[in-house]
Amino acid sequence: MAKGNINVSVENIFPLIKKFLYSDHEIFLRELVSNATDATLKLKHLTNIGEAKTEYGSPVIEIKINKENKTLHVLDSGIGMTEEEVIKYINEVAFSGAEDFISKHKDAEKEGIIGHFGLGFYSSFMVADKVEIITKSDTHAPAVHWVCDGSPEFELSPSARTERGTEIILHLSEDSQEFLEDYKIRELLLKYNRFMPIPIKFGTKEETLPLPEGADKDAKPEVVTVDDIINNPNPAWTKTPTELKDEDYKAFYHELYPMQFDEPLFYIHLNVDYPFHLTGILFFPKIGNNLNLDKDKIQLYQNQVFVTDEVKGIVPDFLMLLRGVIDSPDIPLNVSRSYLQADGAVKKISSYITKKVADKMVSLMNENREEYEKKWNDIKLVIEYGMISEEKFYEKSDKFALYPTVDGKYCTFDELKGKIKDLQTDKDGNLVILYATNVNEQDPYIQTAKDKGYEVLLLDSPLVPHWIQKLETTKEKISFVRVDADHINNLIKKDESTVSVLSDEQKETLKKALEESIDSKTYTIELENLGRDDVPFMLTQPEFMRRMKDMQQTGGGMFQMGNFPEMYNLVVNTNNPLASEILAKENPEEKSKIIKQALDLAKLSQNILKGKDLTDFIKRSFEMIK
Ligand code: ADP
Repeated sequence: MAKGNINVSVENIFPLIKKFLYSDHEIFLRELVSNATDATLKLKHLTNIGEAKTEYGSPVIEIKINKENKTLHVLDSGIGMTEEEVIKYINEVAFSGAEDFISKHKDAEKEGIIGHFGLGFYSSFMVADKVEIITKSDTHAPAVHWVCDGSPEFELSPSARTERGTEIILHLSEDSQEFLEDYKIRELLLKYNRFMPIPIKFGTKEETLPLPEGADKDAKPEVVTVDDIINNPNPAWTKTPTELKDEDYKAFYHELYPMQFDEPLFYIHLNVDYPFHLTGILFFPKIGNNLNLDKDKIQLYQNQVFVTDEVKGIVPDFLMLLRGVIDSPDIPLNVSRSYLQADGAVKKISSYITKKVADKMVSLMNENREEYEKKWNDIKLVIEYGMISEEKFYEKSDKFALYPTVDGKYCTFDELKGKIKDLQTDKDGNLVILYATNVNEQDPYIQTAKDKGYEVLLLDSPLVPHWIQKLETTKEKISFVRVDADHINNLIKKDESTVSVLSDEQKETLKKALEESIDSKTYTIELENLGRDDVPFMLTQPEFMRRMKDMQQTGGGMFQMGNFPEMYNLVVNTNNPLASEILAKENPEEKSKIIKQALDLAKLSQNILKGKDLTDFIKRSFEMIK
């Protein structure tokens, strides 16, 4: 038996491994299965180039638990190691065998050798007091047995093993006994290794064979015991788009998110070789107006090994609403988030994905506009979010962003502009875009706008205030106003002025009368000469103020307006006969009654007549029609 010392630096590294390197101890299994996968892929590569010494066969990786001995075993039939290789690859910690291998066999990169995981193998000391390696290389060299108890000392002796491959035995430490539980190991394998490229066996399972053709009705189907292979070695994203049909993408979506019963709206297959490697499939789920980011997130893989589903910083924020898989060997692992965000490769990946999504939108819209329009309400949140947060995405968005109207029509910005520019350009040359956020609640205002021949958009997602702000600051001479922000004549100011029926003096008297009956803290009274047939009393909420409040609800916005009291403008149309009638009433009580009634009607059309005010209104109304 040979004894030796592992490279001195190890002495310092072991405690590091245990404490700092991996906050998640459970990843040791990912590392070991990755090594086993690498070893198998290396052998495959040698077989492909005719340099393997043994038959490749159909190798599987196996995980076994031995409760009695408190050991966990990871077995592979990969390339194995000779004594020299164990010394070189295992003992010289800083030496990455995979790197060495790749420099020798450049082509091997194509086989997707995982490597580059840094201290992969040594992470097993996070959970084990003692680790053994029994390995036989794909050469005639004899098998060797390496044992190390976590100190820099190791023992190396011959082993009786005859088959090619490696077995890693972990003697689990007292505080890691949970890894002796079947369910725990299964959970980890499903989390990290579900799509790894070599079949992974964990125990066996019973399988019912289908009855042979023409079998007797009463015949019992045969039940057989088969290996329980926990992974799908060829997940959809590793294939080319031409190999896949619509159903395959959908099936993969459900494989990825078994608890998801909705179908995805559409998918984007990512595939890039230069200047970095990246594959993946992104799905657009039905999101509607729901900004819940926590469920079924995008998963990040490195060569089919699950890394994380915390993709913030790698995937642009707005795409975190999507689902799917991104797989890239160029994403650095086990590093801090701030490092990730500053990493050049990561930045490129992020802008590539953004571009890809924008391109997909353009092609979806051009291929089938009708279908695209149907899906708009389910995807608009993502698009709006993208337009606000990613400049590159915004720049392209005129080609795919839609503006729905209250009548269920959908136009691009240019189409909208073409439609409304004649009627909705105000006297200063600004294009005024009217919108509603709720068709039911804002119906009176919508109808008034429509009577004028104006188009009203329906913009009801929670990001709208931020989104229109972005459009207003980047497009020339446009402004958005909600239909109930002011009287229609003031929303789009034209050069025409209406003559006033009342004299200035009469207006003064009217204003006083109004002030006496109305709470001036909540309502700012504005007298306007509108059309004779325009409503006499109307409540409006200035666009700016309302928008700031809305913004605050979705986060952002400049001021603390959350607790601001509700304030309205009360627009009184002095040209409507009701104004003259109020003036003419002698009896102050009657005068106040009409004013209150008119105010309540205005409140009713804003949907804000509630509680005692509502009760009083109903009582008063009955009295008035008596
Ligand atoms: P990395 O995988 O990043 O190279 P590791 O510390 O996990 O680093 O492994 C070091 C080296 O040990 C590997 O590169 C490989 O050469 C060798 N090795 C580890 N596990 C196995 C295995 N199961 N079969 C063959 N070689 C292995």
